[in-house]
Amino acid sequence: MTFHVLTLFPEMIREFATHSILGRAAKAGLVEVKPLNIRDFAINKHGQVDDAPYGGGAGMVMMAQPIFDAFSSLSTTQNTPVIYLSPQGHVLTQARAQQLSQEKEIILICGHYEGLDERIIEEIVTEEISIGDYVLTGGEPAACVLIDAVSRLIPGVLGKEESHQNESFSQSNLLEHPHYTRPPIFRGREVPEILLSGHHGNIEKWRQEEAIRRTKSKRPDLLKI
Ligand code: SAM
Repeated sequence: MTFHVLTLFPEMIREFATHSILGRAAKAGLVEVKPLNIRDFAINKHGQVDDAPYGGGAGMVMMAQPIFDAFSSLSTTQNTPVIYLSPQGHVLTQARAQQLSQEKEIILICGHYEGLDERIIEEIVTEEISIGDYVLTGGEPAACVLIDAVSRLIPGVLGKEESHQNESFSQSNLLEHPHYTRPPIFRGREVPEILLSGHHGNIEKWRQEEAIRRTKSKRPDLLKI
């Protein structure tokens, strides 16, 4: 899977993609993250990529032409999703991340300032995705979130010990059960006895019940979906 990331800050994306599980996946050839600097496609020798908004008002708007030229320089297929990270998009879900993990290539566009000239959205964007109902200064952190959430669902990216099969949101809409590791007692708090019993059937049943219990208490909204 290749992520092409159109950005004004390629180093933010490059740095992010070199660490931990994502860095390992890149080394293994499972995921490729390719930032493309929109400024390389600036309209003049001053590196201009933004301008004042028509109609007035505060802030700058990212110009359509440099983004279009950056996009056109890619040799991706016509069906490649072109995602604009935007607070106005649908909020990213595990289900959407799962669907996107089936793609061969994805183009991500990171906005800045007031965002993109609307016409570039109409012209090339196939979907707007938000990472939550709040506003960031730029799309790069959102692109990193999407790359991370999608990459870890690509077969082979997670080792067996990091499997996502039972995780929150991966089965029905339940949050995952609680986890414990050594020592058996920490500051007087004991690991639930059942986890030390070695009885796999009972442990599985307990985990299911805990998943339902904590979803009801932490995210009751998920049970209404
Ligand atoms: N003027 C825009 C609005 O009110 O909808 C907000 C622009 S924001 C300051 C600058 C850029 O950050 C956006 O173009 C987008 O790429 C990114 N961004 C901000 N919040 C985001 C979010 N919740 N999810 C994804 N991207 C976001």
